[in-house]
Order: sequence, then C-alpha cells, then structure tokens
Amino acid sequence: MARIMLLGAPGSGKGTQAERITQRYGIPAIATGDIFRKNLSEGTPLGLKAKGYMEAGELVPDELVIDLVADRLSEPDTKNGYLLDGFPRTIAQAEALDKLLSGKGEALDKVFFIDVPKDVLIDRIAGRRVCPSCGRVYHVTGMPPKQAGVCDDDGAELIQRKDDDAATAENRIDVYNEQTKPLVEYYKKTGLLIELDGTAGVDSLENQIEEILG
Ligand code: AMP
Repeated sequence: MARIMLLGAPGSGKGTQAERITQRYGIPAIATGDIFRKNLSEGTPLGLKAKGYMEAGELVPDELVIDLVADRLSEPDTKNGYLLDGFPRTIAQAEALDKLLSGKGEALDKVFFIDVPKDVLIDRIAGRRVCPSCGRVYHVTGMPPKQAGVCDDDGAELIQRKDDDAATAENRIDVYNEQTKPLVEYYKKTGLLIELDGTAGVDSLENQIEEILG
C-alpha cells in the first residue's frame, strides 16, 4: 500500500519519476495536468472550462480540481495506493485533500519534493517533447527517443506542449513559486516530506525514491 505525492515545479521531472514509480509498484498515477489535457483534446465541458487557464499557464480554479480528484480517488483501482502528480498545487487543495482522505480513514504515506533551480527548469521545459498518444515524456538532448521525434513505445510523432513555449513556461514557474512552493512547508510540518535534489539525474532519483519506498 502506498499513497505517494510528487511535489515540484514544472520541468522538475515529476512525470518521468511518476512513470517509473507506477510501473514498479503497480499503482495508478493521478496526474491532474494529464487529465485536463485529455479533457481538452476531447472537448469535454471540463476541458473547455480549464482551457483558458492552461493555455495562459495559470492554475485551474481549486474547486474544479478538487472535485476531479475526489471522483478519481473513488475509483476501485486506487484501493491499493496511488501516486499524485501535479496535485495538490495550492494550500486550499492540500487542505481539501486532507479532509477527503481523513473522511475515508486514509492518509498519505510519503511526499517527495523534487527540487530543481529555475535555469535548469527552463532548459528542461524548452527541450521537453511528449507523445500525444501514450503521454510518454522525452527531452531532445537529456532523454531522447531512439529515433528523433518518434515515440519509442508506439511510433507516434512527438509534440511540444503548447504551454511549454518560453513565455508560458516562465509564467508557470512564477505561479509555482507563488502558489505551490508554500506546500513544501505545509508537508514539512506533517513530517511526510522527503527532499530530493532534482538535478541528480533520472536514474539516481529513481533509485533514491525506491530505497525509501522499499
Ligand atoms: P501539468 O501537466 O501538471 O504541468 O499541468 C498543466 C496545467 O494543468 C497547469 O499549468 C494548470 O493549468 C492545470 N493543472 C494541473 N494540475 C492542476 C492543479 N492541481 N491545480 C490547478 N491547475 C492544475
């Protein structure tokens, strides 16, 4: 049983670690950004509500996100644990999550904070490419696919996320520093926070996380 949260700025490597952890432990990743992108591409009412915020690099309003996560956490595949990636992103979301979990007699086990300096974040976001089909994340130089521009897993042509352009990425990092970074102190107080140096390299980070999770 593992209820894990990954906390970190855009470009900190949460998504990459999430892929590895969920494969190893057989738990689902709940990545609110992925859920919003899927809704956006399918043109659902939720996607339409989130669109403007996402394209501007702003946060989607708390109540939309909280309802979405509450629904997702009621699904049976979360019974044996899950990994939260990109949620919570505000103190209000963290408080809502606490309430939601304590209502079910549950609690988080570990919160991993992946710390990365801003100049590294900007470089990572600029070079990030994603598979529109399976969501796998690459970096043009740091973590390239075997064949340039093509997903290793399903052969789809990789794309750059719209909100990864320089101006929007910069805004997302500012929004992170203002609204999400305070969660580091919030989770420090709970004793759940584990700080990791996000410049350590993907494999090293994965090993550190695995050692802690056992
Ligand atoms: P991400 O893929 O995690 O970088 O998320 C992409 C975008 O989705 C963010 O820039 C926000 O607009 C929105 N989003 C994802 N998760 C949240 C959240 N927990 N709270 C508010 N907005 C979110």
